[in-house]
Amino acid sequence: MPVPALLTVDLNALAANFHALEAVGAAPVHPVVKADSYGLGAAACATRLMTEGARTFFVARASEGEVLRAVLGPEPAIYVLDGCLAGRAPRLKAADLRPVINTAVQLAEWRAAGGGRCGVQIDTGMNRLGFRIDDAPEPFEGLDLVLSHLACADDPSEPMNARQRDAFAVVAQRYPGALRSFANSGGAFLGPDYAFDALRPGICMYGGGPEGRPDPRIRAVATLSAEVLQVRDVPAGETVGYSRKFLAEHPTRIATCGAGYADGVLRAYSPTGLVAVGGALRPIVGRVSMDVCAVDVSGLDVAVGDTVELFGAQRNIDEAATAAGTIAYELLTSITARVPRRYVG
Ligand SMILES: *Cc1c(COP(=O)(O)O)cnc(C)c1O
Repeated sequence: MPVPALLTVDLNALAANFHALEAVGAAPVHPVVKADSYGLGAAACATRLMTEGARTFFVARASEGEVLRAVLGPEPAIYVLDGCLAGRAPRLKAADLRPVINTAVQLAEWRAAGGGRCGVQIDTGMNRLGFRIDDAPEPFEGLDLVLSHLACADDPSEPMNARQRDAFAVVAQRYPGALRSFANSGGAFLGPDYAFDALRPGICMYGGGPEGRPDPRIRAVATLSAEVLQVRDVPAGETVGYSRKFLAEHPTRIATCGAGYADGVLRAYSPTGLVAVGGALRPIVGRVSMDVCAVDVSGLDVAVGDTVELFGAQRNIDEAATAAGTIAYELLTSITARVPRRYVG
């Protein structure tokens, strides 16, 4: 049974991307499964990644870690990138989560609760989370991971990448015995000297390219599809959708498809978005509405019940994101709970 809007997740492609990253970086992959695995479903994705050999995962929030712990059982290490916020230590401990400590206040909070295994984040220039290098803490009992995050990993020509890498290599020497993790998806592709001890990718596992455009080493994982609800022939001179944003200059066949901005089809897809209809790429016309969007299918053999693809195996997610003026991360995390996730592989 088709449903109006559906997200199909290819777990074999996820596994292939996981192994492709291991090969590219020549280092173990510790998957980032925050934001429900970028919207694809952390329970299914992390379970499969464990089958593929992953034993260390990263989430952003303690709440995400709690859910993941219940799904994965006691074995894997789960790090929480938010660190140890005020009053959170008991929750972290109860679910055996390891905070990535970002500040001296967080470190005091964790220690006051008894401490335990944890990481530290060192800020090497992004000025987001983590200790400034000058404020990096002395090594302490329980510290088993030191990480830093690249600001411009999607741009290999950016000189800041090497500056951050070199700064990280120096500061990480303070923590002998702690695992060093530096590279996100883009960083994994920057070269072997960016890999350190473990990679920390998200988007490339989920099908986005390391530079925000298609990469032959990365397979499509997520396919967002919509069912054709109605097909109509619009005479020349009439308009389609809210605010008359599309004028049919000649007779136009329109397929009204069952996915709108309440499903994660960004309104910014109009007027530049393309969808795959059979083998063809066709424009979304007029405004995307809450539950439906209109696609120009003139000249194609399209019937009610057919499906079109917003992005996926036929329409690359980075190209879809670029057309909507955004990035693959946002397309994936915008898909709402209304859209069923179907897992294959
Ligand atoms: C989100 C995140 C990652 C993963 O980044 P991608 O670009 O999706 O590979 C890695 N490390 C940190 C600290 C992050 O916040």
